[in-house]
Amino acid sequence: MRFFYPVISPSNLRFLSRCRLFNASSPKPQESAATHVLRRNVLSMNVAVNREAFRQAVANTLERRLFYIPSFKIYRGVAGLYDYGPPGCAVKANVLAFWRQHFVLEENMLEVDCPCVTPEVVLKASGHVDKFTDLMVKDEKTGTCYRADHLVKDFCNEKLQNDNTMTADKAAELRHMLAVLDDLSAEELGARIKEYGITAPETKSPLSDPYPFNLMFQTSIGPSGLIPGYMRPETAQGIFVNFKDLYYYNGSKLPFAAAQIGQAFRNEISPRQGLLRVREFTLAEIEYFVDPEDKSHPKYSEVADLEFLMFPREEQTSGQSTRTIQLGEAVSTGIVNNETLAYFIGRVYLFLTRLGIDKDRLRFRQHLAKEMAHYAADCWDAEIECSYGWIECVGIADRSAYDLRAHSEKSGVDLVAHEKFSEPREVEKLVIATVKKELGLAFRGNQKMVVEALEAMDEKEALEMKATLESKGEAEFNVCTLGKNVTIKKNMVTISKEKKKEHQRVFTPSVIEPSFGIGRIIYCLFEQCFYTRPSKAGDEQLNVFAFPPLVAPIKCSVFPLIQDKKYDAVAKLISKSLTVAGISHKIDISGATIGKRYARTDELGIPFAITVDSTSSVTIRERDSKDQIRVNVEEVVSVVKDVTDGQSSWADAKGRFPAHSSVSADA
Ligand code: AMP
Repeated sequence: MRFFYPVISPSNLRFLSRCRLFNASSPKPQESAATHVLRRNVLSMNVAVNREAFRQAVANTLERRLFYIPSFKIYRGVAGLYDYGPPGCAVKANVLAFWRQHFVLEENMLEVDCPCVTPEVVLKASGHVDKFTDLMVKDEKTGTCYRADHLVKDFCNEKLQNDNTMTADKAAELRHMLAVLDDLSAEELGARIKEYGITAPETKSPLSDPYPFNLMFQTSIGPSGLIPGYMRPETAQGIFVNFKDLYYYNGSKLPFAAAQIGQAFRNEISPRQGLLRVREFTLAEIEYFVDPEDKSHPKYSEVADLEFLMFPREEQTSGQSTRTIQLGEAVSTGIVNNETLAYFIGRVYLFLTRLGIDKDRLRFRQHLAKEMAHYAADCWDAEIECSYGWIECVGIADRSAYDLRAHSEKSGVDLVAHEKFSEPREVEKLVIATVKKELGLAFRGNQKMVVEALEAMDEKEALEMKATLESKGEAEFNVCTLGKNVTIKKNMVTISKEKKKEHQRVFTPSVIEPSFGIGRIIYCLFEQCFYTRPSKAGDEQLNVFAFPPLVAPIKCSVFPLIQDKKYDAVAKLISKSLTVAGISHKIDISGATIGKRYARTDELGIPFAITVDSTSSVTIRERDSKDQIRVNVEEVVSVVKDVTDGQSSWADAKGRFPAHSSVSADA
């Protein structure tokens, strides 16, 4: 599951002009329409520069205010590893708390917490040891490694942006290449690299053919070094291997969901774009276990009317663009495979928009046919638009019964569910009865493997053998574990179909998996919330993060307007009450001007500021509008609690309390 890099396309231009940094230059009331068009055109011409400047402004603010910083910085750091500082930790904790509320609590999920260090056998069974790879190419001279698809993507983007001599057909071909890149095999990618003449970015040397590179960090468990293991690349496997116990814990009933939040590790070939592609990150994953014969969802009607941007597979390959589709219509027309998958798409939409993601910069993109694992029934990515383009932040996949079957086979423990029938049902069953004595005489030490292979035959294979044994008296039979054919005689096995009464159906559940990359969501939120506005004096641009109270790292600040003992005392009292009420806040009794103090808190995205300018009443200032209301000291904490908890809105508070007008609300 990969993501897109920016293309200077009309949609990017539209996006960039929507970015709040650019909105700072949107028309002022006195500006004529013509001037506005002119300004917009200038903006469009400078789009690449502006995008870079915007990204830099966000990154500088985030690092300066310690939202996140490169890990091990004093030792020059390591690519793809980042630390969250105090406000970053607070934002992350808020996002995770809301995730627990929105999914674990509201959906009665069973939360687990499994180790990051995982024995090899688990990841062998899941397919990660053999297949968790990205295609890599090497600079043939220096040995530097690159992700093959990234090089092709960068080549196409660069051509589309800068090559004015390109024909319309060629441009269409490159755009198509970008759309289907995730679908290409190693051979196809290698062919494109040769055809486009792509060389190593730094040295311009030739590149090797693409080959798979496993992304897992390998380790060994224990001092002997004899137990091979890996740092988990996802949290899901911990849930699958616990299925039997969780099913029992849930009263042996389906459907149910288990959830896990934890670190995941991927040795990315070329980590880049800050928090978007890192080597260790927090995943929040849900595994919803459902009967494969009934993928309806009891709460589907609650989301069926939602409408949002969707990008179905066919529309991507035929060059169309994202459009608004009603979720219920997407299910009834077969665009989304089933109700449960749709239910989670809807819930993810609500989760992200409630966090503050702009609904016009959020889309659900369906996986292309080859991009999807062969066992998957359907997959959608929630992609959020930021200055790097559309970024996959949540993957929502119907993984069918693949994972539970794989672990059942490898561990020998049945990971199955039961449907008890109210009345016993008569069914015809295939019975393969092996005659151990005859098989032992014929195959001696290999008897066990032959017996296992005979008993594992499916119905078609068994009935064909039965017919051959009846007509010829013997049959050739391939035993995979022996790696050869053996001759089975009529006296060694009896194959029949018998009528039986069954009291229950035993089956392997399907799994619907929403998987959230928390760092990516947070980064996109940072970008979407960032804007600048002129200072009161008009001599500088001040940074603001317009976080909704739900995710804001600190909910309010408390300042005495001027340095005065009696105001300090009131501020300290309010601070104490805020602590008791569980409201994170920052008290600033420094002598800095009130404007400076507002600017500091705006840059941290603190939504409300309480300013103490009397001993009986105080003002509350809202960050983005800079509107102020006057509230009695005794009431101020409950007002702030209500607006930050979401019990009431700022508009409600403005209706209840008198406005306070003061130029000091400006930073
Ligand atoms: P996947 O299992 O590849 O679908 O990944 C699940 C989610 O993890 C994705 O939707 C991303 O949000 C996130 N993710 C995957 N790889 C990375 C990475 N290298 N850095 C940060 N987040 C990632």
